[in-house]
Amino acid sequence: CSNKVKTEEPICNVGTLGHVDHGKTTLTAAITKVIAEEDKTCEYVSYDQIDKAPEEKARGITINIAHVGYRTKARRYAHTDCPGHADFIKNMISGASQMDGAILLVAATDGVMPQTREHLLLAKQVGVKYFVVFINKADVADQEVLELVEIETRELLCDFGFDGINIPVIYGSALLALRGDTSEYGVPSVKKLLDAIDTYIPTPTRDYTSPFLLPIDNAFSVPGRGTVVVGTIKRGIVKKNMDANLLGFDESINTTISDIHIFKKSVTEAVAGENVGVLLRGIKIDRIRKGMLVCKAKSMMASNHYEAQIYLLSSSEGGRHRPMRPTGYCQPLYSTTWNVLCRLDLMLPEGTNMLMPGEHVTTKLTLLRSMPMMEGQSFTIRENKCTVATGMVTKILP
Ligand code: GDP
Ligand code: MG
Repeated sequence: CSNKVKTEEPICNVGTLGHVDHGKTTLTAAITKVIAEEDKTCEYVSYDQIDKAPEEKARGITINIAHVGYRTKARRYAHTDCPGHADFIKNMISGASQMDGAILLVAATDGVMPQTREHLLLAKQVGVKYFVVFINKADVADQEVLELVEIETRELLCDFGFDGINIPVIYGSALLALRGDTSEYGVPSVKKLLDAIDTYIPTPTRDYTSPFLLPIDNAFSVPGRGTVVVGTIKRGIVKKNMDANLLGFDESINTTISDIHIFKKSVTEAVAGENVGVLLRGIKIDRIRKGMLVCKAKSMMASNHYEAQIYLLSSSEGGRHRPMRPTGYCQPLYSTTWNVLCRLDLMLPEGTNMLMPGEHVTTKLTLLRSMPMMEGQSFTIRENKCTVATGMVTKILP
């Protein structure tokens, strides 16, 4: 339906997650098929079309992403499916297509596998809060096996801090549904899944009440007036003549919002979710760096010190083979659009002196440059461009 968009219609971003070959692409195709059968304005997208996803350059990295659009009675969906495991990881870490909710596929023939865990973990780190589970390949599994896989999946969700008890779990077969089979695990299972998605994943709402925050994607100078920074307002409302701070990379600069532009038109205010250009009075362009942000004056601070939870990826998840020592580990930390060298000082439980791959721990983070980070903000740590740890800020330290 992506070609027939009514802009006022609510939209929800979803995607298929799960271990390779568990049926993500088959299910994506089946969803469009089932919907297209009933709603002639929606288009069926075949397996081959999805699996030949075009290469996209997102945030400087190459990712294969298929964007599929469809519509239910409740709302419109933008659905992402990535052909390769590495593409999923890159998509989630870079936030290239942020998901409001996700469909976690677990094939009954395999149960929970390493990539099931890894996708779930990364989804958690990037703030995906809602999941619906589809236990796939029910056409070739016994009832008891389906139930065991459900128990295992619910436990996994609970382990990661999700509501594993109440999350909807649907048994079905993407392959039967794609073939138009009308038995229990065919088309009806996909309809059940769509109902669960409609009801369990809320339509995202914008935060208009918190203090104004604008991460900077781009900047250009307006001679004689200052610098325009461009980005999408993350939260709050920006008003003309508002006092603001420009934060990041050791800088905390006072400024004033002297003009706001939306689609090249000057406006007096703009709200969360809007892509804006804001003119910062008296700021020279050479002071702006991608990864800085503009916020309401005194509403945020930048710090070099944070406390965080980190999870060290195991080698089967593409992480390190060797454990991490408690102090002195230095590698670049990536968050939103920036990266800065950081040092970790692990707060290991008593009786342990190393963090093993596959384990998590509380740690102190020291950033080489002071950066504004919020509680709940996710980041990754990479060695030679490979993700070895994911983490989340739990405390801002002075
Ligand atoms: P992906 O890697 O997760 O995208 O998995 P695919 O959608 O490419 O599916 C992998 C393989 O599993 C393909 O051969 C599919 O035909 C098969 N498959 C997918 N869904 C089902 C199902 O419900 N039942 C059975 N028996 N096979 C399935
Ligand atoms: Mg696939």
